[in-house]
Amino acid sequence: MSKPWVAEFWRYLLLMAVSLFVGNLLDAVSVGLFLGSTAYLGWNLYNLHRLDRWLDRGRKLQPPEAPGIWGEVFHHLYQLQKRNRSRKRKLKAYLKRFRESTAVTPDATVVLGSGGEILWWNEAATRLLGLQAPQDVGQRLINLIRTPVFTEFCAQGDYERAVEFPSPLDNSIQLSVRVVPYGKEQRLVVARDVTRLHRLEEMRRDFVANVSHELRTPLTVIHGFLETMQDSDDEWSRRWQRSLGLMRQQSQRMEQIVEDLLLLSRLETEERPTHTTRVPIAPMLEEIANEARALSGERAHRITVEADRELFLEGNAKELRSAFSNLVFNAVQYTPEKRDISLHWYTDQGTLRFEVRDKGEGIAPQHIPRLTERFYRVDVGRSRERGGTGLGLAIVKHVLTRHGGRLEIESVVGQGSTFSCRFPLPTR
Ligand code: ADP
Repeated sequence: MSKPWVAEFWRYLLLMAVSLFVGNLLDAVSVGLFLGSTAYLGWNLYNLHRLDRWLDRGRKLQPPEAPGIWGEVFHHLYQLQKRNRSRKRKLKAYLKRFRESTAVTPDATVVLGSGGEILWWNEAATRLLGLQAPQDVGQRLINLIRTPVFTEFCAQGDYERAVEFPSPLDNSIQLSVRVVPYGKEQRLVVARDVTRLHRLEEMRRDFVANVSHELRTPLTVIHGFLETMQDSDDEWSRRWQRSLGLMRQQSQRMEQIVEDLLLLSRLETEERPTHTTRVPIAPMLEEIANEARALSGERAHRITVEADRELFLEGNAKELRSAFSNLVFNAVQYTPEKRDISLHWYTDQGTLRFEVRDKGEGIAPQHIPRLTERFYRVDVGRSRERGGTGLGLAIVKHVLTRHGGRLEIESVVGQGSTFSCRFPLPTR
């Protein structure tokens, strides 16, 4: 028991003892005790009334003075209130600072409640997303931003990535939107104006596409002439046979790079594949395996196919064939002769999977995250020697992304690699 309570207890006992003594003197013990208890109760009621009045009227005023336990209670309550007031002041200051800073940030910020309803937004959100006060408060954001990519993005709920779409107010403004979950089922939506970056990206794409396109015709002409010169039987051609061969080989390589670059820029410009059908993958893999055996030739790799004939993939057959054959031909290129290469098409853990497993030279871990970059090669000299452009895996990645899939690479140096393409199962 705390000290004030002990004192209070003794005070009560003393009052009762005095009441008993006086009652005894007057020969009326019960009356004495009754009066003593009533006095004690009255004193408590009086203090309770003072407490109530103090809480009701002016909590900012000093608390009433009282002896004993009531003094303690008043003091504690007063301290508690003081602490609360200072906490409230601090919170208010934080909130003010947060609002002031988000209000001036150029990024649109919207706070969503657990049901996706709009709770608060800053000035940039009015400018970029077109939110209007007060009518949009409490509305669901997906009802106001009706761009299909945003609706799909919210339905998928994969908030690790950002989504890009034009501003609902002005088509020429490109936005990059992120959703950050926080607190208790709340979400912060942050939209950034990336118009400049988007334009630069467009310019880069157009530039690469134009350069590639412009190079195509001269290269075809050069290639054609070299072929004719090599095929002719005169003295001059015979003398230059080796050089002509090398020139033809290099011009062929350049043609291949140009074709790959054009394919890449086409894949980048169109968001979704056209001419999609239900593609039977198993027979496609048999064909690719036959081509790979021909490519392997005397190197005699053991190429096997294990494919589920019941599984189909919705998409563009030509694009998928180019991506899958790229992976298989790479395995042939980077696997020493007579070793195993296996192709697998199956379903596992809610995904459709195409895998190429080889027992080749493998890839060191530091290279793996960069393999899908354009022109990235582990060994540039060897890749060139084998006729590689360094664009193959970049094309694979783009084709997969367009089909809702992703590429995963596992490899151990000296043991081999597994290139795995994962696609979502069709919803129908
Ligand atoms: P390349 O035209 O050089 O083959 P890719 O984009 O297809 O270009 O591949 C990039 C690099 O990845 C290659 O240069 C090679 O170093 C590495 N690579 C690709 N596939 C394999 C594989 N199956 N085994 C080992 N290395 C590979």
